[in-house]
Order: sequence, then structure tokens, then C-alpha cells
Amino acid sequence: MRRKRITVQGIVQGVGFRPFIYRLAHELGLSGWVKNTPDGVIIEVQGEGGVLEKFVEDIMLRKPPLSRITSILSEEMDPIPEESGFSIIGSSQEGDLRPVIPPDVAICEECEREIFDPSNRRYLYPFTNCTNCGPRFTIVEFIPYDRPKTTMKVFEMCEECKREYNDPLDRRFHAQPNACPVCGPRVWVEVSDAFDFKPSSLSLDGDPIAVVGRALSTGMIVAIKGLGGFHIACDARNDDAVSELRRRKGRAWKPFALMCSDLEEARRVVQISKREEEILTSPQRPILLARAREGNGISPLVAPKNPYLGVMLPYTPLHLILFRHSPQTLVMTSGNFSEEPIAYRNEEAKERLSYMVDLFLMHNRDIYVPCDDSVIKDMGLGTIMIRRSRGYVPTSVEIPLDSPPILSCGADMRNTFCVAFGREAVPSQHIGDLEWAETFSYYERAIDHMMGLLQVKPIAIICDMHPGYISTSYGMRRARELGIRTLMVQHHHAHLASCMAENGILSTCIGVAFDGTGYGEDGTIWGGEFFVGNPIDGFKRVAHLKPIPMPGGEAAIRRPLRMAWSYMRDSGLDPTGLLDEKEGRIIDVILERRANAPFTSSMGRLFDAVSAMIGVCTEETYEGQPAAELEMVATDVWDPSLPPYPWEAIELRDRILISLSPAIREIWHEHKKGEDPRLISARFHRTISEMIAGICSRISEETGIRDVVISGGVFQNSLLLSDSIRLLKELGLNPIIHREVPPNDGGISLGQALIGAAKLGG
Ligand code: ZN
Ligand code: ZN
Ligand code: FE
Repeated sequence: MRRKRITVQGIVQGVGFRPFIYRLAHELGLSGWVKNTPDGVIIEVQGEGGVLEKFVEDIMLRKPPLSRITSILSEEMDPIPEESGFSIIGSSQEGDLRPVIPPDVAICEECEREIFDPSNRRYLYPFTNCTNCGPRFTIVEFIPYDRPKTTMKVFEMCEECKREYNDPLDRRFHAQPNACPVCGPRVWVEVSDAFDFKPSSLSLDGDPIAVVGRALSTGMIVAIKGLGGFHIACDARNDDAVSELRRRKGRAWKPFALMCSDLEEARRVVQISKREEEILTSPQRPILLARAREGNGISPLVAPKNPYLGVMLPYTPLHLILFRHSPQTLVMTSGNFSEEPIAYRNEEAKERLSYMVDLFLMHNRDIYVPCDDSVIKDMGLGTIMIRRSRGYVPTSVEIPLDSPPILSCGADMRNTFCVAFGREAVPSQHIGDLEWAETFSYYERAIDHMMGLLQVKPIAIICDMHPGYISTSYGMRRARELGIRTLMVQHHHAHLASCMAENGILSTCIGVAFDGTGYGEDGTIWGGEFFVGNPIDGFKRVAHLKPIPMPGGEAAIRRPLRMAWSYMRDSGLDPTGLLDEKEGRIIDVILERRANAPFTSSMGRLFDAVSAMIGVCTEETYEGQPAAELEMVATDVWDPSLPPYPWEAIELRDRILISLSPAIREIWHEHKKGEDPRLISARFHRTISEMIAGICSRISEETGIRDVVISGGVFQNSLLLSDSIRLLKELGLNPIIHREVPPNDGGISLGQALIGAAKLGG
């Protein structure tokens, strides 16, 4: 008889780890106990020597799917002769253990088997879940994470469900959203009242999910309540349905996401590598951006001019059951108009979505906080998170220094906020663009919710330096109310710190921060910046694009031809003909008088200008469209040996000014000659990556620093990112890129948190 004390660390709480240990001990006939502690899960087990070894081995081999073990420490103990049985020591003795709320998790294999097993009591039940799967973050109102603190509180468990819930040997032991057809939530269909809709050929009788499946097959548009909010769905292979959806949703060009019935279907739609398959089928089930397959039958209106498609697999039982009746690939776009926040309450959805859909597939499991689908792109050299939301939030990111409790407010576009404490930072779900009143109220509510769940009382609030940011004024007001301090962080410093935070780096690096817009330390708009620094001592701007006037300010973003005009004038070219006579004259007056023409060193605006100049995209209908389309056209003809265009580095007293005028002149010349815009775009991409490598190598020679941190929304561009990395490596430099957190403004809040932790921590 021997006894062992085993300490398991990692992601082992809130993932069904204790019941798993309980079941394992039972199976092997061991006695002892298991409990959660602030240092991890502690287990004491007693039994025969060989069995104890097997126990430890099985912990590693059979651990719950959502757990991640970072260490197992086992010590010999003196056996306790009179001990019998194995117990889970309750949560009352967990001390000051920080509550862990898990993210929402896609349906597990066992639950999937049950819903398609006619003999199972959950046959075709769309709210089936267990300890290993189902809703979490989106249904939790407050802590502790127990059923009465979730939106499941209104459903009283039936005897059978209760038995499962209370049985440590059952897969549903303490599964808070546990439910069955007898006692749980249900679905129903509602007809939109906005249309004069007479379901003549469509019977609304029978199984609501089957009704909706049939409706989708006939080309109808349906709002479907999911895990983190409503989706709007239609048959992705039906041109009429997709074009009607575009019209109703007020969305001209921005690609729609797709949901495929299963992996086989996804393979018919896009090309999927081994790594992409893992991403698609992971418990987080994000939207994967992958190369479209030829002849996939998907309507070209789903993602016009785009060789990539965003696909995901079903992640709730409701989706799986729906695909038994519906077309095999559905458009599954967020239930919102344009960029408003996603609808998630039944009444609200009816109000806001009625005029976009024919039917609603409703259910009565309330969503407490909405959470959009996450988006990931595989860049060949690793994966880049485009949007980190459902499935990932509220998982924390480990940061390389101790943080006092702080809240960072993020940026105004693609907003996320972040709560940090100790070595953890918790970036929020995707909030969106704060300029929308509805988005802003969602923002305030989401912050209160998250602070409640994490039980964090911030000692400071970190905001962007931009005086006009809504998030900044929110942060200042909130800090005043709470009587705590505020810290302003420059936008691009935050981008770099964000990348350093998730890579665990505090040492001085070269930083490349390229994006669309960020308020600079000198009051101009930055966005094509090179720095040297670290989150503790700060960052020094050492090189940047030559600032160019943005005629009409923000208006130039939506009308990239104006940016092209400005760049061409600056390069000594005659842009006549690019705009009609009247608009051209207006722009020239603006440029001459320097009124309402703020200067910008933004790389995003340079991409806009080139995209418009060569006729790839002359109107921005969604954020980043001109740059995205410029990348897309280059993808087909991409060749890393294409020659770059010339560019110039001008040495100033304290920094380098980078002028792309020589490139602009040659691009215009080639365009006039009738050169293929795809080739021009590819060579332009090559120019920017060569410029990055050139500037970084100069900075490295001067400073001896070899680490190059790369961040900012421009680096969602696969061609630019991979080519830059290749060149930097060839120079013996060490590029450091994002993996867990988006390079775009969705990552800003994490960077603000790291800088806040560095400045305010001990
Ligand atoms: Zn399950
Ligand atoms: Zn039940
Ligand atoms: Fe940015």
C-alpha cells in the first residue's frame, strides 16, 4: 500500500478536472481526495504501487479535452490505513481561489453522438451539453459560476438531469447548463412581421428546426439565435438569397462568413491544410479564412473579389440538427445592421432584424453577454488572430510582469478592453466600433460584467492618448467616479507592447507598427512607424513614413482616390483624371490652403492610395477594403523574387524619414503603360517588405538590437507579413509576431495593460 500527493498545474479548473480525477480513482479502485487550490489541483491517492503509477500516467493521457497540464508534481506520503473511498473536497474549502469562468465551448463528440441516437433521451435536443462542452461565458451573470448565477436559473432540472448533475461519475456532474427536452430550453419559429410574408408553400408546422432548414433551402433568409448572439443565415449557393441579404443588411462588399455542415463539406468549399483542420475542429471553432476551392458552387457574392472564404463548422447541437434539413453551406453572418453590435435578446432581435429576415429561429435560453465569432487566418508561418472572441474569451494571456489590478480601455475601432492583475491579462470579447451609440452601451455593460466575473477593483485605468476617442473619455470619467488614476498610452506603443506581452518579452526591441490611424505624440496621425524601446522605459520613434496631407481628414479614408491624389501631388505627378474636375479642384484647394488636411504617416493610407491609383478599389465600403483588395489581387501573381520599386530614406537629425515618392512615380508610370495591376500590387508589397528589412537593418546596425516586434492592422496582410519575416530572417534579425491576440486594434487593450502594469506595478 502506497500513498501519493499529486499537484497538477495548468488549465485545470473549470474544465471538469476534479470529476475526471474522481472517475479515474474509482475506476482504478484508489482511495483519497481531490481539491482545487490557488496552486492548482491537489490530489492524494492511495493504493497499490503499480496502480498509482498508472493513475498518474492516465491523468496525462486521458485528461479532459479542455484542460492543459503544465506540470505534475508527485510526492510519496505515508499511507492512511483506515481511509476508504474517494471524495471531491467541496468549493467551500477552496480559500481565496480566483474564480475561473471558462469560455464557450463547441459541442463535444459524446454529446454529438447522443443527439443523433434515437434511443437517447436527448435525441435531437438542441441544448444538449456536458462538463466538456456548451455555453459558459455568455450565460454567466455573476460568480460563483453556479446555475443560479446563470441564465439557466429559470429552468428547474428534472429528476433525471438532477441525478446526472449530482453524480461525480456522470459526464454532466456540475455541468451548470445541463438540460433535457423535459426540463430545458426549447426552440420555436417566428415569422418576421416586416414583410408581407405569406408562407404559402412553406408549412410552419412540425419541428421548428426542420421548418427553418426547409425555408433556407427555398432561398429564405433566417435569423438564428446561437450561442453568443443572432446570426443571419441563407443558402450560400443561392445567388438570389445572398444578394438579397446584402441589400437588406446594407453591406455592399464586405465578405460574409460561412458555416459548413462538416469537415467534408468544408473541404469542398475551401482548401484545408492539416493545421487549418485542427483550427476548424478545435473546441473554440473559430471562423477560418482559407483559400476558396474552385468550382465549390458558393455564390460569388459571398466574398466578391476575394480568393479567401471565412468558414466555420457547427458548434452547437442546434447547428448540427439544422444541417440535417438545410443546405450544406450557409452564410452565417452576425445578426446586425452594418457595424452595429450583434443582436442577442429575443425582443431586441425582432425589433432590429425583422426587416432583414423572413423567419426567426428563436430559443429561450437567454444570452447574458453577447460574443461574436472569432476569426483566424493561417499565414503559412503560423496563425494570426483577426478577431479573438467566442471560444477564447475570457481565457487570460500570461504577461511577463506582475500587474496591479487595472482596466485598459482599448481603441475606438475593433474595440476590446482588457483587465489585468498579477501575471494575467484578460482581453475582452470583440466589442466593435464605439462610435455607434449601441456599441458604446454594450461596451459599458461588458466592462461591468467582466470586472464582476474577475472580481477586480482597478487601481488605475489606461486609455489611448487620442483626445477625441470615446474610449478615452469613458476611461477618464470612470476613473474620476472611482477616484483612481488614469494613464494615457500612445496607440503604436500599445500595438508593440501587445505583441511583446503575449510573447513574454520586456527587453528592448526594434518595433514596426503599421496601421491605418493612431494619434501620435506630436498630434499628427501616425501609422507607418519604427520604434526602439520596451514597455518599461518607453518607445522612441526612430523612423516613419513621410507625412502626407489627408484631404478632408476622415473623408479621405472612405474615398481613397483623394489619398491617391494627395500622394501623387506630393510626388510631383499630375493626378488629373483620377477624380472628376470639380472634386479634383476641391482637393487641390484643400491641399493648397492646408485646411482640413491633417498630416499622416499612415501605412494604411499609403495602401489606400496605391489601391485607388491603379483602380483596384476606389471606394471604401468597409474598414480596410482598399488594402484588403490590393493584397487579394497580388495573391495570384505573387513571387518573392519580383523586384521592388525604389524608395528613399532621408536622414533627419534624430530619425529617418521614409519617402515612397519614387515608388509612387514608377507605379503611376507603369499603370499608364497598361501594366497588370496584380503585378503592380505584388511589386508594391515587395517594396514595403524590402523597406521594412532595410530600415530594421539600419536600426539594428546602430543599436545592436536584433529582435524586431511586428504589430498593427497592416500585418493582417499575409503577403506583407510573410515576405517581411523572410527578409528579416535573411538579415539575421529575429522577427516577433502576434499569435494569440490580433495585430489590429483588437490587440490594443492588451498592450495598454502591459504598459500600465510596467508603469504602475511594483
Ligand atoms: Zn458534451
Ligand atoms: Zn431534464
Ligand atoms: Fe492601430
